[in-house]
Amino acid sequence: MVTCYIGIGSNLGDRENNIKKALTLLHGCLNTEVEKASAFYETQPQGCPGNAGRFLNAAAKIKTAFSPRELLRQLQSIEKQLGRIRPGKRNSSRSIDLDILFYNNQKISLPSLKIPHPRLRQRAFVLKPLKEIAPETIRSLAKETKIISTLSGMRGFIAKEKAQNMTIGFVPTMGFLHEGHLSLIRQAKKDCDTCVVSIFVNPIQFGPQEDYKKYPRDLEQDSILAKSAGASCVFYPNAKDMYPPDYLTYVNVEKITDYLCGASRPGHFKGVATVVTKLFNIIQPHIAYFGQKDYQQALVIRKMVEDLNMPITIKTMPIVRECDGLAMSSRNAYLTTQERADAVVLYQSLQKAREMVRQGQHDARIIKTAIKTAILKKKTAKIEYISVADARTLEDREVFRQKTLIALAVWIGRTRLIDNIIIEV
Ligand code: AMP
Repeated sequence: MVTCYIGIGSNLGDRENNIKKALTLLHGCLNTEVEKASAFYETQPQGCPGNAGRFLNAAAKIKTAFSPRELLRQLQSIEKQLGRIRPGKRNSSRSIDLDILFYNNQKISLPSLKIPHPRLRQRAFVLKPLKEIAPETIRSLAKETKIISTLSGMRGFIAKEKAQNMTIGFVPTMGFLHEGHLSLIRQAKKDCDTCVVSIFVNPIQFGPQEDYKKYPRDLEQDSILAKSAGASCVFYPNAKDMYPPDYLTYVNVEKITDYLCGASRPGHFKGVATVVTKLFNIIQPHIAYFGQKDYQQALVIRKMVEDLNMPITIKTMPIVRECDGLAMSSRNAYLTTQERADAVVLYQSLQKAREMVRQGQHDARIIKTAIKTAILKKKTAKIEYISVADARTLEDREVFRQKTLIALAVWIGRTRLIDNIIIEV
């Protein structure tokens, strides 16, 4: 008997029951027993048609005497018994999905069967349940990633890369990586020889009442995801090294930080500009990548780089959204099921606004009222701001013209979410 790990997912029918039945059928197979199963985790569908349901995902540790191919046949037979239709469309909804993640320590590469599962390292929805039942496996996968936690270590790494004429792409993050972050990493890897991803929850950009302490963190999972997206290393400095007790220097970008999040989070952009400057000085990238999701942040960084003559190209990448339109964010992890359902209203209200402008409504007040009305239909929602602004200066606009930004900050329950769109008139 050998030990195997199985990944399980369902987003059609009675998902919980489908998984339970799959585990029972697996346990009932000849020569096979289920030793351990993880909890069931609710996850968002990926790369799917817009109306695909949410998944429940789990992982199981089994002992089996089947060969890898026989085990695959058994899993496919269980899928069939539980109503899975094959061949289905890629990423289509399914009553049950059973994947062999690991088969003992074997490596298999056949057209119909690859073990370990080739996309295992790219999928948070597999890594998370797997970590629960096989923490040592996740630890060893994470060890495949080069993690640098000292400033001198990081400088040394960069010096070596630059000595070999490598171009450096840099993706600063606060971790708890999702597809939005990974899209930046993939782009950096495409453009540059070396891609550095920093993971640092920057204390000085959080207000005293904000979520610095409870901000979600998972270095092991992040390391695996970052490397599989193309990161050459992860820079993981600690706050004491970044801000020793005698720290005194801050970077302040004026004016464009007076609006939107700058108005409601005093000191936030000073914290962001300062940490990004420090990271730029340590990593000295050729190109740095930011998401349009944090539109104002990208604008602040561009201005800072221009004003302070930093020899760095800033690339801003499009917002990556869940299948239903919610902008991906590490903070989405805070949302309850009801809140998650309500949160999509940010995107929907922006889409509605876009449509109204397209149909000729250019009065910012009317558009803001329409957005407000849509958002406040959700009981869990509280609006922090709705802004219609010049996309370059962030100054308020009364009328839509040229490039106009609509930006929102909305509390869904106790979670603050932001989203935005640019409308060209
Ligand atoms: P954070 O970890 O939230 O500080 O984000 C790190 C970087 O990823 C920032 O440049 C963000 O704008 C970017 N980012 C976060 N969420 C998304 C998303 N949904 N789509 C694209 N970029 C994103």
